[in-house]
Amino acid sequence: MRSFNPFNQKDLEFLKKLVGEERVTTGQSYLELHSTDESYHKGYFPDVVVWPKSAEEVSLILKMANERAIPVTPWGAGTSLEGNPLPVQKGIVLDFQQMDQILSVRPDAFQVDVQPGVKYQDMNKTLSRHGLFFAPDPGANATIGGMIANNASGVRTVKYGGTKDNVLKLEVVLATGEIIRTGTFAHKSSSGYDLVHLFVGSEGTLGVITEATLRLVGILEKYSAAIANFESVEGATNTVYEIIGSGLGPAALELLDQATIAVINQEGHLALRETPTLFIEFTGGTETSLKEDLQKVEDICKANGYVGFKSGVGRDERNRLWEARHQAYELIKRNNAGLSLLIIDTAVPISHYSQMVHFARETIRKHEIKGYAFGHAGDGNLHLIIAGNFDDPDFVKRRDKANEEIVSHSLSLGGTATGEHGVGIGKRKFMAQEHGESLQVMKKVKQLFDPNGILNPGKIFP
Ligand SMILES: Cc1cc2nc3c(=O)[nH]c(=O)nc-3n(C[C@H](O)[C@H](O)[C@H](O)COP(=O)(O)OP(=O)(O)OC[C@H]3O[C@@H](n4cnc5c(N)ncnc54)[C@H](O)[C@@H]3O)c2cc1C
Repeated sequence: MRSFNPFNQKDLEFLKKLVGEERVTTGQSYLELHSTDESYHKGYFPDVVVWPKSAEEVSLILKMANERAIPVTPWGAGTSLEGNPLPVQKGIVLDFQQMDQILSVRPDAFQVDVQPGVKYQDMNKTLSRHGLFFAPDPGANATIGGMIANNASGVRTVKYGGTKDNVLKLEVVLATGEIIRTGTFAHKSSSGYDLVHLFVGSEGTLGVITEATLRLVGILEKYSAAIANFESVEGATNTVYEIIGSGLGPAALELLDQATIAVINQEGHLALRETPTLFIEFTGGTETSLKEDLQKVEDICKANGYVGFKSGVGRDERNRLWEARHQAYELIKRNNAGLSLLIIDTAVPISHYSQMVHFARETIRKHEIKGYAFGHAGDGNLHLIIAGNFDDPDFVKRRDKANEEIVSHSLSLGGTATGEHGVGIGKRKFMAQEHGESLQVMKKVKQLFDPNGILNPGKIFP
């Protein structure tokens, strides 16, 4: 690991003078709050937490940190699942909670300009007054800065794409303190290197985002939703492949295995049939075309041996279903009180989704591990939650073996080590296997943007 200078009293005085005493702290409780995210990774305390209010403040902080060789880690809402915002080499945490303004909504251009600390669910409430929303939907109330940095996605990605598909322009502060603006208000461009998408998914290791222009879509009032139950997980996953292959464009297509449905029933009182299940939704068009779409979907489900199909799901039930799906992680956590969770996040080409899900379930069975499989099936994305006692060395050995086998299998199928949660700490060990020689190019890019390695050190690279 690279060595940095210790943060000292003079550095603290500099920060206090720059932003004011009330927006800098070395208080133990605040350091602790910024030492863990939602993952199982151990905590790392920073030296100091700062709440900037402008790009200019961020610029001066980075300039000082770069000259002094002190690590800086940006912080959104801390909902990451791979240790992405943890200050593993101490230093300064930049918390964007106070840069949470929607700067401008341009409904006619389907665009919004925001500061990075805006939470997407809160933003979408405001945008709904204009009949618009930002489609990527990770479930937890993440910040836009954190979503861009992790390239988050969610249940609507199958129709609208992930965060990367919905970011047009960025203001970024580089490690040297230089402020740059990159991208365009146009919805397409072939102009020069695509720096916007270099920053998307860079997990705060290349620059600090201080403003973003996002692409919005209209809220479609007409929708049709269905719940399909299957005897086997294979029946459900084969159905996913055939729905996508049929050219039908679902707005959501989610898989939940029997164990996940059982937890939702226990914790959420939805009384769902406890079998492998698909949540399917279409939006837009006319009532007639939506009905036709669902009829085609039912035919596909039938051909794959469905044991239940409920269409015409009403608004309330549909909202409760999505709430339960969004809360699956929290419900599983609550249902496993006293145990720790690791969530595996792989994505494969849709043609290999069945095989991936089958392999993952067989692997945890082989290692005698309790697990829950669910995911954004329409994107070939699988989450597998492993629950157990992480203080038990024997369990940890089996957990790590299962994790390694499942992620490696995803790579062998032409997939990725992380569909949406990012590399953080947990997926670094798979980077060489996934990227081969291009990992060296990534290292050169990092060196170019951040020669002293101060930005979120200890992430992405093995
Ligand atoms: C219950 C639950 C469900 C989830 N479901 C999903 C899901 O369906 N899909 C999904 O994609 N994710 C999901 N997540 C993971 C998480 O919500 C996302 O990764 C989210 O994007 C993290 O955003 P955040 O604001 O919490 O960022 P943080 O966790 O605070 O930070 C994330 C990364 O962004 C960097 N960062 C933060 N702000 C900036 C900035 N201004 N400039 C540069 N870098 C910055 C940090 O350094 C870090 O590397 C889920 C998490 C939970 C707890």
